[in-house]
Amino acid sequence: MAMKSWASSTRVAKRDHSKPKAGELAYRKGDILTIVETGTGKGHYMARHNTTGEEGLISTTNVREREAICVDPSLSLMPWFHGKISGPEAVSKLLPVEDGLFLVRESIRHPGDYVLCVSYSSQVIHYRVIYKDSKLTIDNTQYFYNLLDMIEFYSKHKGAIVTKLLKPKEKEGTKSAELELSKTGWLLDIRELTLGGSIGEGEFGAVYAGDYMGQKVAVKNIKCDVTAQAFLEETTVMTKLQHKNLVRLLGVILHNGLHIVTELMAKGNLVNFLRTRGRYVISTDQLLRFALDVCEGMEYLESKRLVHRDLAARNILVSNEGVAKVSDFGLTKLDCKASDKAKLPVKWTAPEALKKEKLSTRSDVWSYGVLLWETFSYGRQPYPKMSLKEVKELVEQGYRMEAPEECPPSVYALMRCCWEAEPRKRPSFQKLQEKLERELTKHSPGC
Ligand code: ADP
Repeated sequence: MAMKSWASSTRVAKRDHSKPKAGELAYRKGDILTIVETGTGKGHYMARHNTTGEEGLISTTNVREREAICVDPSLSLMPWFHGKISGPEAVSKLLPVEDGLFLVRESIRHPGDYVLCVSYSSQVIHYRVIYKDSKLTIDNTQYFYNLLDMIEFYSKHKGAIVTKLLKPKEKEGTKSAELELSKTGWLLDIRELTLGGSIGEGEFGAVYAGDYMGQKVAVKNIKCDVTAQAFLEETTVMTKLQHKNLVRLLGVILHNGLHIVTELMAKGNLVNFLRTRGRYVISTDQLLRFALDVCEGMEYLESKRLVHRDLAARNILVSNEGVAKVSDFGLTKLDCKASDKAKLPVKWTAPEALKKEKLSTRSDVWSYGVLLWETFSYGRQPYPKMSLKEVKELVEQGYRMEAPEECPPSVYALMRCCWEAEPRKRPSFQKLQEKLERELTKHSPGC
């Protein structure tokens, strides 16, 4: 029987296979291949070549998993964007002229507008891009929400300009994210994606359910180009992380801004999951399993010296099988200085992190304590009825939340350990995991 395996959809060829036998696929070292079936016999997959679109059998030993993308600030979704440079400067950058070579600059004469500069037939043509009613246009006919859209359109259609855009002139010091994503196998094909209904509302737009080559996926579309660039960093972090309790990235699509495609967590976020079911449906045992799931995901981040910085039940998603996974790596960082204090979620953030802007795995442990409280109170808002200012002041003075109703005392004791004022005194996720495992055996008869 054909099996679809979530984790294994994309592979990279380890060596050339240029003389295929009948039914086999030809490929070269480094080519990106998408597995379409794994149940095709021992040692073989049925795969599709991402560039040629051809399908055929490949040997499992000839391919490897995709590599993580280096978190590299020079990686840009808009490497062709050169900022405020003059017309003559743009011309000199586009020399020697090559048909279809292009860049975008900010207009000096008309602040707020852009100029698309394109090489064609030994000259450089400058198209003024007008910003009108929150949209961009060159010809008052074709309108775009952002520069990414505009460049995508004119790369496929000539439209009102002299030639299709063929080759970006990259700004010095930037690297094309598109190229890097495609080389490493993280760029997905929009034609394989079928979008379904909206399943959630994020800060930067709706999240949709979808289907990607037979796999159920969730798709976040970020239209604004500046935000898309910021999310690219979150995505590169995700390429490094693989754990059963972290929401898994399938890849990204560059179309209409940025589409981030992840595994579908059919039961939504943990807060809604708990609130809509409540204590008569969800047992303490199940709550403990959620707590352990999250703890294992966090222990993995801890082992990679990554700090999540926004751990809260709203950022935990539940799979169809009822497994809880950590999501929203938007703030996850190796370096632990809070660059934007205003953004920290006060009710979840450790006092030293709020005060000294010092974030660490141990401040994630504090947030985990709050998450435990949310879990055992079936999705209540922490510090009920207290303002952020009150929370900040009282917690600093030693105030801690009381145990949620009917919470096992041993679980409340864990929360209190996570809320030790002194970060060093808080347990590690590894220690927490051991304690939760012990707790779970107490609560699961027969285990
Ligand atoms: P934000 O932008 O506020 O961080 P997200 O965009 O990550 O939030 O998600 C918003 C909501 O969309 C989540 O609370 C959840 O209900 C839903 N959602 C996000 N990702 C997934 C997913 N992979 N599977 C199922 N639902 C999801």
